[in-house]
Amino acid sequence: MATRKFNLEESELPTHWYNIAADLKNPPAPPLHPATHEPIGPEALAPLFPMELIKQEVSTERYIAIPDEVREILKIWRPAPLIRATFLEKALDTPAHIYYKYEGVSPSGSHKPNTAVAQAYYNKQEGVKRIATETGAGQWGSSLAFACQMFGIESKVYMVKVSYDQKPYRRSMMRVWGGSVVASPSDETNAGRGILAEDPESQGSLGIAISEAVEDAAMREDTRYSLGSVLNHVLLHQTVIGQEAMKQMEMAGEYPDVVIGCAGGGSNAAGLLFPFMKDRMEGKTKTRFMAVEPASCPSLTKGEYRYDFGDVAGLTPLMKMYTLGHTFMPPGIHAGGLRYHAMAPLLCHLYDEGYIEAKAYPQNPCFEAATLFAQTEGIIPAPESSHAIRGAIDEALAAKEEGKSRVILFNLSGHGLLDLQAYDDYMAGKLVDDHYPAEKVREAMTHLPVI
Ligand SMILES: *Cc1c(COP(=O)(O)O)cnc(C)c1O
Repeated sequence: MATRKFNLEESELPTHWYNIAADLKNPPAPPLHPATHEPIGPEALAPLFPMELIKQEVSTERYIAIPDEVREILKIWRPAPLIRATFLEKALDTPAHIYYKYEGVSPSGSHKPNTAVAQAYYNKQEGVKRIATETGAGQWGSSLAFACQMFGIESKVYMVKVSYDQKPYRRSMMRVWGGSVVASPSDETNAGRGILAEDPESQGSLGIAISEAVEDAAMREDTRYSLGSVLNHVLLHQTVIGQEAMKQMEMAGEYPDVVIGCAGGGSNAAGLLFPFMKDRMEGKTKTRFMAVEPASCPSLTKGEYRYDFGDVAGLTPLMKMYTLGHTFMPPGIHAGGLRYHAMAPLLCHLYDEGYIEAKAYPQNPCFEAATLFAQTEGIIPAPESSHAIRGAIDEALAAKEEGKSRVILFNLSGHGLLDLQAYDDYMAGKLVDDHYPAEKVREAMTHLPVI
């Protein structure tokens, strides 16, 4: 029987984050000031983020040391398991070997605490007493609340109202971890009060919640803002995933032919892919890299590579990204964490340079893949992660077709135990197969800044 589990010792938790910016052949396009369209310096971000995170954002140092206090907390659940999906392989009757890195073992059930803990630490170091953030479905808000709790910082989460009502248990998690959470739009900020005055029944949106959190942080001396994906420092913090996976694949005596991650803002995919990509950049391997996104929000496969705002309100610096337009409101699919109009600039740069392939799938084939995974491997995946599983299964089926082996590694970014309504809807045949909303994207693309 093939070995299934490859476990690392606590002491083998990476000591450094890997910064792929050090190994890029061409520098990525710089962020621009939203008004002047001139490249911004680090100081422009100082009102929102602690200096150490800003330094990481612009760093070209290859390895950045993970502070001991951060490593101690990561050790609550890290190193995370790497598992060979032998039961899934058998069900697919494929010659491929399928491995997955499992990030659902964290306290909040996804990869997000990997960066939340680091961010809370640097805020604490710089005397910040309180962090404000937004959350859609609640995965980021709960991860940040946990991290803030560990460092004795207050957290304030603006949670999109429709999710606040539909996902009460993610709210409970934030409160258990000492966070305070309000439905957005709220009456606690000018941005929120403005929206409520126009539409008291507003269901909210990620864009509105970002505006509230940014305003909160900008108005209070003791408060900074925090983002759970997209930015360079967030991708950096996630590289513990790929570094651990490299050691574990070595234990398995294999090297992946293809590495796959689901992509919303791009952080979990980057976290797994980037350390392996270094080998390919050095000409050591021919490994393929794949980002899988939802058909209803396909920024890489259908978007344009242009400067756009990171948020719907147009408050952030301009970043060059594959974008569907910052005003684009993706349809309400169950993979809430993948409903982002653009993609991390670093991931976009590598996609543009041909290092990464992208695929987009509708919800039903993803839930079909996730259900097969649950029925063979046991773990019920997060709806976001189901996209990576679909990608991996299709690679395994292609290998079967060719009658050749193929080593596949994907990131199981989280478990779906708080997303069971999504599975109920899938099993009841109630999931609409989301298509590409071409008309809405075309409209949103008319609002891009002209550079
Ligand atoms: C938030 C989330 C994602 C998407 O975010 P990325 O930044 O693209 O990784 C994927 N999976 C899970 C479980 C999430 O919570």
